[in-house]
Amino acid sequence: MSKLIKEKENIEKTNGSVQLKSSLTKWQYSPAPESTDHIHLEKQYGLFINNQFVKPLSGKYFDTINPATEEKIAEIAEADEKDVDKAVQAAKTAYEKYWKKLPAKEKAKYIYRIARMIQERSRELAVIESMDGGKPIRESRDIDIPLAANHFFYYAGWADKLQYAFSNRNPQPIGVTGQIIPWNFPLLMAAWKIAPALACGNTVVLKPAETTPLTALKLAEIIRDCDLPPGVVNIITGAGKTGAAIVKHPLVNKIAFTGSTEVGKIIQKAIAGTNKKLTLELGGKSANIIFDDAPINEAVEGIINGIFFNQGHVCCAGSRLFVQESVYDEVVRKLKHRMKSLIVGDPLDKNTDIGAINSKQQLEKIHYYLDLGIKEGASIYQSDCKLPSKGYFCPPTLFLETSQSHRIVQEEIFGPVLTIQTFRTVEEVIEKANNTPYGLAAGVWTDKGSKIFNMTSKMRAGVVWANTYNKFDPTSPFGGYKESGFGREGGLHGLLPYLNL
Ligand code: NAP
Ligand code: MG
Repeated sequence: MSKLIKEKENIEKTNGSVQLKSSLTKWQYSPAPESTDHIHLEKQYGLFINNQFVKPLSGKYFDTINPATEEKIAEIAEADEKDVDKAVQAAKTAYEKYWKKLPAKEKAKYIYRIARMIQERSRELAVIESMDGGKPIRESRDIDIPLAANHFFYYAGWADKLQYAFSNRNPQPIGVTGQIIPWNFPLLMAAWKIAPALACGNTVVLKPAETTPLTALKLAEIIRDCDLPPGVVNIITGAGKTGAAIVKHPLVNKIAFTGSTEVGKIIQKAIAGTNKKLTLELGGKSANIIFDDAPINEAVEGIINGIFFNQGHVCCAGSRLFVQESVYDEVVRKLKHRMKSLIVGDPLDKNTDIGAINSKQQLEKIHYYLDLGIKEGASIYQSDCKLPSKGYFCPPTLFLETSQSHRIVQEEIFGPVLTIQTFRTVEEVIEKANNTPYGLAAGVWTDKGSKIFNMTSKMRAGVVWANTYNKFDPTSPFGGYKESGFGREGGLHGLLPYLNL
């Protein structure tokens, strides 16, 4: 338990008893770092092919660093085209020789086993996720890792019931699937991709992002320890070129990609004219809409959760706030007050609300947009929290007096930066909220059910949350409209991209 220390200037001793001088007392928490004694990391990691870690044919390695300390954690193999070919050949052989032939209920047992081993090793996985990617331990411990296990549990259940999911059809696996994931939810994105692929009878070559390969490599250890037949899941690390080589490989029958819209477009071009299947989960600029009849305190918590959760490194972050004019002053006042209490700092500290920005490049991108917002004439508000002297950190930031035409309102920043606009009518806010190239998610805060249904049917967004934000569940499909991509992951819908019907 951490000890609470009140700031000195706010404490006054009267007759031996402690009294508060002002109601605006700022609480400071003693450090409560999560232990790292229980984790084991190698100095160097090879490529996981055929259930073994092998040296890359490329002979190349790169460093993965801790963005909160800028220290190197481990060396990671960089797969080139020959390595990719080796992994794809392994997946192809495993598909033909074992996985395709294995009865579905036997496949399910392996997937359950992976889920249980993720649970068993959850403390270790959570700490490594926070070290490698910068997210607060509270999130990796309570959200990323449990959800990753739940995805495996959920899809294990589907493995022998596919004919009931698609009745009167004949669901068949596709073969080798290539999966490319980003750095914001490293283990969770791997689970979103691997679990349905296996349940549908496919084999996998997965590439994690360059800056966050470690939990995917830990998952590789789990897969090996589960005795999954060699080659069913191959995890190869590398940079953008490695991903491109997976996309291009002729034996890969399906590409599942989560990442930026820019790279999504490159992939779509690269596979044009082939018969590869494709799902794209891309960027977003999601609207969080507060009506005047909303429970304002809860809505403020929802705004905070929507944009500052995981440093705003969330594709569906509620990064555009729309507040009905009559409650604007109240919402902004409460939002600023709440922002003051957010703790930015060590991702391994259990009190931390906002951890480290994932990489130096990402921090530079955020700073570019902070400068741009000021140049565009918006007014900026940042809480005056102390930032650690080392590592990549950004305080929670609010941009007021913004308009639809501002680039900070239109473009994805992917950091803890919120733009705020007002509206008067339902029609106006629908028009404004939909006026973006993206369509991943939205939030609606109101007391009226009818308003919720009206909004959800008119918002061009894959997910619309009502009186909450950033809630995920394996049973619920997730995906975008417009430049946020196509295809769904999660739920029954998440089986479709991995089957020929
Ligand atoms: P990114 O640059 O597009 O990278 C995503 C993955 O693609 C990484 O593994 C990357 O490798 C790889 N890659 C890069 N160039 C490639 C190429 N030419 N061909 C094939 N693969 C390539 O995205 P990011 O910056 O890592 O992630 C942030 C973006 O992801 C944001 O736009 C966010 O909105 C989006 N995202 C969307 C969802 C969703 O569900 N819609 C979920 C999470 C994130 P390297 O890491 O080595 O560059
Ligand atoms: Mg890292």
